[in-house]
Amino acid sequence: MNIQYSINNNDIITEVNTDFIEFGKENAQGKFVPETWIGVDLFTSMVDFHSRFLHQLMLQRVRVRRKTLRYRYRCDSPNIARFMIMNIIPEGRNAVKYENIVEDVVLMPNVFQFQFLSGSEVKRCSFCNSMYVNGNWYDPVHFNGKRAVNLVHYVEYTVCDTCFKRLE
Ligand SMILES: [Zn+2]
Repeated sequence: MNIQYSINNNDIITEVNTDFIEFGKENAQGKFVPETWIGVDLFTSMVDFHSRFLHQLMLQRVRVRRKTLRYRYRCDSPNIARFMIMNIIPEGRNAVKYENIVEDVVLMPNVFQFQFLSGSEVKRCSFCNSMYVNGNWYDPVHFNGKRAVNLVHYVEYTVCDTCFKRLE
């Protein structure tokens, strides 16, 4: 699978490929309308400040250096750890093409059934999917099959220190 989309010099999505559409359908369970992505600002789809910031940094670097940037990340879904490679490729007139290639898929049963202790601060890195629980970052695999008593209803998305440093 190679999920591709292109943006113009104003970061507006100009093109998506069939893998992008297929992947979107799988993850949105029928609520996904690919046509609505064309003409949308890439950054409006990124909800948290830190993810947006790192994406903007990468994009700026590609436009200035005019060299493809490769960045590994995770795109897990319930019970599946998905190891991804993102290639950000400079094209003409500051347009940029994104390729998202699935490198490996590992089954990760029960990981999302873990229930965090209420009151603990739970953050999740949107690039490596690590979770910040009680002062430490953990790979989701760490929580395989573990359970706690109370629920936290809200997980804040951000970028962990390691993922920021990987760009340096
Ligand atoms: Zn991370």
